[in-house]
Amino acid sequence: MTHAHPFLNAEQKKQLSGIAKRIVFAGKGILAADESTGSMAKRFSGIGTENTEENRRLYRQLLFTADERVNSCISGIIFFHETLYQKTDSGKPFPQLIKDKVMVVGIKVDKGVVPLAGTNGETTTQGLDGLYERCAQYKKDGADFAKWRCVLKITENTPSELAIMENANVLARYASICQMHGIVPIVEPEILPDGDHDLERCQYVTEKVLAAVYKALSDHHVYLEGTLLKPNMVTAGHSCPKKNSAEEIAMATVTALRRTVPPAVPGVTFLSGGQSEEEATINLNAMNQCRLHRPWALTFSFGRALQASALKAWGGKAENGKACQEEYIKRAMNNSLAAQGKYQPSGDKGAAAQESLFVSDHAY
Ligand code: 13P
Repeated sequence: MTHAHPFLNAEQKKQLSGIAKRIVFAGKGILAADESTGSMAKRFSGIGTENTEENRRLYRQLLFTADERVNSCISGIIFFHETLYQKTDSGKPFPQLIKDKVMVVGIKVDKGVVPLAGTNGETTTQGLDGLYERCAQYKKDGADFAKWRCVLKITENTPSELAIMENANVLARYASICQMHGIVPIVEPEILPDGDHDLERCQYVTEKVLAAVYKALSDHHVYLEGTLLKPNMVTAGHSCPKKNSAEEIAMATVTALRRTVPPAVPGVTFLSGGQSEEEATINLNAMNQCRLHRPWALTFSFGRALQASALKAWGGKAENGKACQEEYIKRAMNNSLAAQGKYQPSGDKGAAAQESLFVSDHAY
């Protein structure tokens, strides 16, 4: 049975796979700076800073103007809608600033999670209405990749079959819409770390969720070479008494990926999911040292684990701008090494390097 109605021509496929490959190119990863206004309120309240549009612009300007040391570490930045239309102090639009650094501009296009009726607190993600038109506009405004986050929860009886199927389907629908507009979709089915489940249970659930996601992507004719996956690392639940080594986490994660993610997918860009900055870096490094064959790049698309120390060092004060950038640059460089399996842990005592960044029932 050949495909009777292909929706992408050879040129479109080439463009999509080119963007995806650029993002995961040798030791590069993504800065997730797409926290919604509500999430920024929480981040800023932690440093006693008012959550105004100007403060969000000032903070993100610091990240986006970090010096050239980040150029070999960060390939792409995910923006929130508001940020895509903000400018530097000197009037340069943020997307142009990023493109001038030969980085790729990304945009969060989902509109957050909503309850799935009749489940034990499970959710789906909304934002499909008007997405076709929004993607056309975002592409014109400089975005070449997008992110959509779905959330699944581990308890004794979740994730339910319904939550797995619904979230896989909505991710696939989103991915196909993005590709029609030349935008590489980052497919993010995040399994939350909340709970006391062990590593094995997280691995089992991750495999079931990813298998459903790739079946749905196939059903929706999504061109895998022009996608990226953004999963959780496989870890024990946050309140599990047993702590696993980075090697165990790496082995469980790479095993789950090998069982479910086709080699056509160019890269896996992990979220940090509330791990401390150092933990996330060490786990990523262990994956890239794992002896199992890995047909995809394994790199980072961290939010908290790239920004926690930077945010703390800034503290909302202009005179701390340089210190903020130094913390961010350090994390970017460490994660770039980890994406190549070359990171040597140094017992980093950055502003928040060892601090748990766990937030229960994390919203974005
Ligand atoms: P964290 O790395 O803070 O988990 O966030 C990444 C992200 O983009 C979640 O959607």
